[in-house]
Amino acid sequence: MRITNHHNLSTPIVKALSKDEYTRGASHRSITQLIDSPRIRILRERHWDDLTEDISDRMWSVLGTAVHKVFEDHTGDDVISEERLFVELDGWVISGAIDLQDSEGPIDYKCTSVWSVIHDKIEWENQLNAYAWLMRHAKNRISKRLRIVAVMRDWNRRESQNNESYPPAPIQTLDIKMWTDDQQDQYMQNRIGLHQYAEQASFAEEKLPLCTDAERWTRPTTYAIKKRATPKSKPAKKALRVFKTMEDAEKFISERHDNGVYHEIETRKGLHTRCDQDWCRVAEFCEQWKDNQ
Ligand code: SF4
Repeated sequence: MRITNHHNLSTPIVKALSKDEYTRGASHRSITQLIDSPRIRILRERHWDDLTEDISDRMWSVLGTAVHKVFEDHTGDDVISEERLFVELDGWVISGAIDLQDSEGPIDYKCTSVWSVIHDKIEWENQLNAYAWLMRHAKNRISKRLRIVAVMRDWNRRESQNNESYPPAPIQTLDIKMWTDDQQDQYMQNRIGLHQYAEQASFAEEKLPLCTDAERWTRPTTYAIKKRATPKSKPAKKALRVFKTMEDAEKFISERHDNGVYHEIETRKGLHTRCDQDWCRVAEFCEQWKDNQ
């Protein structure tokens, strides 16, 4: 991968941001890799020499590592910090380094945005359930709870004072939905099967499995109802209601009887947020991305 320095950062900063300590240990896949798209992983590997990244883009990942380091240095006797566990299934060794394990289960640190805390992230649910699976199979430890300690880099005090649904502090412990043992086992088996299939397809130069909507961070199209005072006046900025289908939006309007108020439906077009060069570096090599253009 070619690293650029478009913002003329000084050498010590470039060196600090260049450091990459990521390892998956002696395993076929780490949990982080396994829960993510096999298409992205394989395209990254194939086109590694053609990829470009600006050094400034590594800032948040390095900040995340720093936050991990701070918490790691202050753990107690009753917890296990940064232990890498290994489990073999269907011929593959799967590993995961869990930030913290206490008597209740795994805890993962995230240096993230307020948006990620407010909106449910299925990736977090997948990751923490995969860690519970690892603990159960590697150490016979049954989890009672799954947690994320979220450090929000864009938290705003004023917003927290004025908005009830906004996180009240820049750091928060979030409980993550825990699946049954069977669901965890099934999920892991499916993910391993998918990644193994993708490897074989790549080797045979066949089509790679497509990224799912969850992997593409898809925001579906929605339909917002907006009021107008007259047929020709501008619609209100704020939507009265937002629906998932046009039928529901039309039904809502047809059932309203507010005299003298006009309504219109604004279509908010959906988006595959990750399918963009800024988020997915392999986009230019991806047939699925091209097909969507
Ligand atoms: S561009 Fe989109 S579809 Fe293609 S690999 Fe990236 S996330 Fe997946």
